[in-house]
Amino acid sequence: MLHKISLGTANIDKYRLIQSRELIDEVVSLGKELKGLRLCHINSTPFGGGVAELLVSYIPLLRALGIKADWQVIRGDRRFFTITKGLHNALQGAPFAEIKKLGIKRRYLTNNLENARELDPNYDVFVVNDPQPAALRHYSSDNKAKWIWRCHVDSSQPDATVWNFLRPYVEEHDAAVFTTQKFIPQDLRLAKITTMAPAICAFSSKNMFIKKYVCRELLENLGFDRNRFLVTQVSRFDRWKDPFGTMTAYRLAKQEIPGLQLAMIGSFAQDDPESWDMYAALHTEANKDADMFVYSNLTGIGNMEVNAFQRASDVIIQKSIREGFGLVVAEALWKEKPVVAGNAGGIPLQMTGELSHYLVNSAEECAEKIVYLLRNPAVCQRLGEEGKNIVAQNFLMPRLARDELRLIKSLVGK
Ligand code: UDP
Repeated sequence: MLHKISLGTANIDKYRLIQSRELIDEVVSLGKELKGLRLCHINSTPFGGGVAELLVSYIPLLRALGIKADWQVIRGDRRFFTITKGLHNALQGAPFAEIKKLGIKRRYLTNNLENARELDPNYDVFVVNDPQPAALRHYSSDNKAKWIWRCHVDSSQPDATVWNFLRPYVEEHDAAVFTTQKFIPQDLRLAKITTMAPAICAFSSKNMFIKKYVCRELLENLGFDRNRFLVTQVSRFDRWKDPFGTMTAYRLAKQEIPGLQLAMIGSFAQDDPESWDMYAALHTEANKDADMFVYSNLTGIGNMEVNAFQRASDVIIQKSIREGFGLVVAEALWKEKPVVAGNAGGIPLQMTGELSHYLVNSAEECAEKIVYLLRNPAVCQRLGEEGKNIVAQNFLMPRLARDELRLIKSLVGK
């Protein structure tokens, strides 16, 4: 059987303290209507990256609402995940010529067939996250559940060959969900196509409140000087996050702000074999500057530490050039931090109003905004308050539960 992640049950009432009564009442009422529904999310890694981050808090919340929610993770070897990383990159627009080879397609499909055989089929609804398991539904043809394909990447301009390969498998689902309208490929034909943005958990160890002095001490113990400015980027070691662009921006900003420190915090994921080379290359670069640091989940930087870095930094950078959503942006905004981020994919959904002035298209622009913010603490404070407000209104878990349960209700005919 596939690995079923062990999780508990959250407490929806905590959200009553920070969300509108109307929203929580609707979510609770949807939970009552769908009580006992067996719902299973499927993805390709139990750790590292936004989907795993989301499910670890989301499944317990669904359980709190009365849904019998589970999370199964597909299996794959390095070769399979190298192929699926190619598919992931291609959905975001990079070419992946290998997909033309019969052996590559066969490998992808054989893996999905094997995983379909190992899947616990006893659910009313499956949500299949991203391209890695997209053909599971094809190999579960006698399964009577409703199947939803949830795309988390920016698929607005997918590589045509890869999309033509994946599209028939996606179209076997009952519905498809994208983060925003512009990510929906024009030629996708499905009875139900909808949009919903991801969300963060306000109470997880990643986002819960931690006192500033604790954050500062934690960073000091890692070698940071609390008397000098610190800017941080948190993201998988992935080309779309443009970590070298972040380093360039940092170097430019440091010419104006001597002593500026940079933390690059990255994580590895089971389904991301490219990250190792990127990690090594970033280390080589960081070793050229005593104030530039690269940390990862392998060197002890877990949720609490990321939380502390986000809280103790003066500015958060997310210089992505493609981004499905960027949970890290929501995490930083929730902590009232000013964010300078790539004008890409789902990031502008979060950085609206005055925050949009800090969406950048180059390393130079990124450096300029960092310097401006470090010199203008009053602006940082204003942006921080506005950012928290945006997240509270739009990007916390109950809103996601509402959107998904509304969709499920429409599919199961309740
Ligand atoms: N993350 C982490 N440690 C790291 C790097 C990333 O915990 O070293 C988390 C980050 O806090 C966020 C998630 O991984 O919750 C990344 O999600 P996002 O949507 O930003 O990007 P994705 O990895 O899905 O492309």
